Amino acid sequence: MTEKIETNNRIISIAIDGPSAAGKSTLAKKIAKYLNYTYIDTGAMYRCVALNAKQNNIDFQDQENVIKLLDNIDIRLDNGKVFLNNVEVTNTIRTNELSMGASLVSQYHDVRLKMVSLQQKMAQTQNVVMDGRDIGTYVLPKADVKIFLIANVHQRADRRYKENLERNIESDKENILQDLIKRDYQDVHRDFAPLKKADDAIEVDTSNLSIEETFKTVLNIILNKISK
Ligand code: C5P
Repeated sequence: MTEKIETNNRIISIAIDGPSAAGKSTLAKKIAKYLNYTYIDTGAMYRCVALNAKQNNIDFQDQENVIKLLDNIDIRLDNGKVFLNNVEVTNTIRTNELSMGASLVSQYHDVRLKMVSLQQKMAQTQNVVMDGRDIGTYVLPKADVKIFLIANVHQRADRRYKENLERNIESDKENILQDLIKRDYQDVHRDFAPLKKADDAIEVDTSNLSIEETFKTVLNIILNKISK
């Protein structure tokens, strides 16, 4: 089911930020589908940069050479699918190695500037639900609705482990937990556009909420805000 909300032809943007594995992408996809908006997974874009580095045998820590790749990188998000230089990489980018890689390359100023500019362009012409770390604070500071999704780190590790099982990705719960802790730390402590709740964002703790409960809670917040 989709819902048409009267917004007087205003272009609407909804920002969903929060730490890794808090349920942002599941929620953002559901909201986008319900409202018939475009879902933009900004994490997938940083994962593409990391994958491109790996394809070119460039170490994620090699800032200079990672940045050089940016001139020849084409990232396209299309209907839930992710394309890197015209090759579909939707599932390829979901490994732990590329989660860590994305967390590293996303610290580079030039990488962020390029991704942020692409993200802002996408939000200029269409209604979007965008998920990430810095959407409400940096990418779309004037977003119509800002949600900051959080959950206890053990719950998040558990969910990611189950998700991997469903996708037939082999993983170890303790490793996932340690990776999440490390990525959270890197995301919160980077100098440029770190993970941070925007002052006007509404925090939703999903630790004890099902996907459906989270969806209903957030949808209510959105409908209240944008139909005003
Ligand atoms: O959301 P996802 O886990 O796919 O993101 C992968 C990594 O990309 C994150 O750990 C984070 O370091 C980085 N990222 C970011 N800014 C965003 C989205 C993701 O720095 N807007």
